[in-house]
Amino acid sequence: MVKLLQILLSLFFQSRTPSNPQPASSEPQKDALIKTEALTVPASKPAKHTNNGKCKKCELIFNRYPGFHPGLKNWFFQLQANYPEAHISDAGRGKATQEEYFKKGSSKAHYGQSSHNFNAAIDIFKLHINGAEWPRDWFKAVVKVAIDAHNAVATFKIKWYGEPGSKFYELPHCEVDGWKNDPTLTLVEPL
Ligand SMILES: [Zn+2]
Ligand SMILES: [Zn+2]
Repeated sequence: MVKLLQILLSLFFQSRTPSNPQPASSEPQKDALIKTEALTVPASKPAKHTNNGKCKKCELIFNRYPGFHPGLKNWFFQLQANYPEAHISDAGRGKATQEEYFKKGSSKAHYGQSSHNFNAAIDIFKLHINGAEWPRDWFKAVVKVAIDAHNAVATFKIKWYGEPGSKFYELPHCEVDGWKNDPTLTLVEPL
């Protein structure tokens, strides 16, 4: 009887022993679970510019303020479909950002004086594997050619500030020509 009890006890402890290190081995499993969860919720991460010909981040920038000039937006997405490396860093621009740019010296305009404040301008860049680039040759070969082709046939014209001899030289900046006289364009935020 005592022998049987001993056997039973030893069996009990044997069966328990392998389960003892369980808390330690369950740690990596927990980590793996967290990682999997993070991978399945990419929507919570901010969108990134992607060279896929229809960049989500560029779309978000256009939609920052409602009512961006539809012609300029369409022209840009046509350009991006043909040149997926083309992106925008800015479209409509609100009061706080405009004044911040003025202070930094990256814009000469106060809020209400820039075509960006009226949803009528974009700033283009080229996305390379190393990040944003502004190669003059690329702007001439891609952006200028697309603007010239557009302006030859379209009813509204696009003005590029990278054009040699521009009054306000600014390589990335493209705006709706005559935006000040377009009654459909309004300030993105009140003055
Ligand atoms: Zn983009
Ligand atoms: Zn600009």
